[in-house]
Order: sequence, then structure tokens, then C-alpha cells
Amino acid sequence: MNNVLTVVGSIALDTTRTPFHTVERTLGGTATFSSISASKYVPTSIVGIVGHDFPTSYLELLKNLLDIRGLTISEQEKTFHFDSSFGYDLSKRTTNKTELNVISNYQSTIPDAYIDSEYVYLANNDPVQNMNVLDLFSKPKLIMCDTMDFWIMNKRDEVIKMMNKVDGIILNESEAKLLFKESNIFKCARLLNSNGPVFAVINKGENGSLLFYDNEFYPLPAYPTEIIKDPTGAGDSFGGAFMGYLSQQGKIDSRTLKNAMVHGNIMGSFAIQDYGIDKLVKISSDDIKKRHEKYKEILSF
Ligand code: AMP
Repeated sequence: MNNVLTVVGSIALDTTRTPFHTVERTLGGTATFSSISASKYVPTSIVGIVGHDFPTSYLELLKNLLDIRGLTISEQEKTFHFDSSFGYDLSKRTTNKTELNVISNYQSTIPDAYIDSEYVYLANNDPVQNMNVLDLFSKPKLIMCDTMDFWIMNKRDEVIKMMNKVDGIILNESEAKLLFKESNIFKCARLLNSNGPVFAVINKGENGSLLFYDNEFYPLPAYPTEIIKDPTGAGDSFGGAFMGYLSQQGKIDSRTLKNAMVHGNIMGSFAIQDYGIDKLVKISSDDIKKRHEKYKEILSF
């Protein structure tokens, strides 16, 4: 069977500190959050690398939810580790440590079964590695990418090159502003578009998100979430659901993209309700449907 959606990105052990609780070396990473989120919409494959310290229980968990034939296990190095903290304002993250470990020298490969993937999501990761993986696919119908401050600060030119190779980009507000040294979010959206992608999504956390497509702006408020335990992975879960929904629908137009934003917001709102991926793995299609109905009710006036 042809593979539909492939997600490429980091698979991490995350240490996350909030004023209420700290979780240490829990399963995280951009590919992890996005592919689990996407898998609620279409069968999803994950491409990435972990180290010899990656717990077997996490491997089993991923195997139960995803096609993991594209996952490499290094016997030499340790898994990517991301250590970050949040204060009482859970929308502001401070990075304490980014230990790339296995990611530094990763030579991307994909199994033959993935070559024909129609949809490819390059979740936030080294832009050079993302471009190398992209070359391995025959001719995807739709490619979307994400990035973050770490890569914008360390490999900005490569981030711009990667943008030129994709159909869509998703990133958060501060990263869009940092990328272009521009303070106006609408100008950022236009700049993203003029660098390649036909659509751009800028995430503003609890303030919602903005889609720019076909010369139009489409803002959307966030789903109101009262219980927030851990904001890590909100953007990736948004991106995964967005891409999962597009892969399921098989077309790109403003209506489909707007609906993809709705699903992105829904899955982002679930992700932050518990630590790491805990909530994402627990929710059912019925939970998504219920939240979708509630969201629709809130947005109608
Ligand atoms: P988000 O909260 O959606 O922006 O993404 C959080 C995830 O990004 C965490 O699970 C981290 O493991 C992962 N991450 C953090 N820094 C990097 C980086 N430089 N490259 C790839 N993934 C990263």
C-alpha cells in the first residue's frame, strides 16, 4: 500500500519545567507530536533518529500508533534532548539546553515504501537534513514545513532555502518576526509567501492563528482551553492535525485550509492539557468531533 503522509523531524526526550511540575526525559520531539496528531486523520509514518538511551516503552508506543519503519536507532549516540522552562505565563518558553546528540550527524534515509508519499510534513528540525530527506521522495503532492528560533538563529539561509522547496509553512508568531526582523504579523505572512510557500500559517498561541492564502488573510481565534499543564508540542500538534486533515481531504483551497486550521487548533488545545504526548494518545475521534462542534458553536455569530 502506498504511504500517504510522512512526517520528518525530531524525536526527543524532553525535560519540561513549569512552576507547577517538572517532567524529565519524557517522550517529545516535533515529529512525535505532529505524527501522533496527524494519525488521528490518516495513517502516518514517522522519519527520524533516536539514540541507544531511547526507552523501549516509547518505541512500543510509537509502533502502536504509527508506521515506524523510517525510524533509525543509533547504537553510538544519545537521543536528542530538549530542556525548557515556562514561568506563570505559559506562553513564554525559555530554552535551557538543546542537546542535538544523534541529530547532529544524522544521514537521512527513508524506506522504499515511503518514496511515493503524497504528503510530506517537514516538522521543525535541521533545515539541511529536512532538505536532504525531501530529495528522497519521488514527487509529493504537498509539502509543508515548520521551523523555530534555534534554526533561524543558527541556519537562517538554509531555512530560507527550505522554504523555497515547500508548498506551505507553519510557524509561530515570534519565529516569523525573528526570521524577517519584522514586527507586523501580516507583513510576515506576505514575506513567507514571497519566499516560496503558497500558504503560510502563523500561530499566536492562546491568541489564535492566521492563515495567508491566495492574497487573503484568515484569522482564527484559539479554542478556549482552561486546563493547561504543558504547552510543549502545541505548535507541532497543530501542524500535524493541519497536515493530517489536508492529506485526508486531498485538495487545497481556502475552505479546506480554513478547516485544517480549525483541526490544528483543536489538536493543539488537546496537547497542552497534559504533559508531553499524554493527552494526544488518549483522545478518540469522538473527543475531536465533540470539540469541533463546540468550537463551531463558539465561532458562529
Ligand atoms: P513546540 O512546543 O510545538 O514548539 O515544539 C516542542 C518540541 O520541539 C519539543 O518536544 C522539542 O523536543 C522539540 N525541539 C526543541 N528544539 C528543537 C530543535 N532545535 N530542533 C528540533 N526539535 C526541537
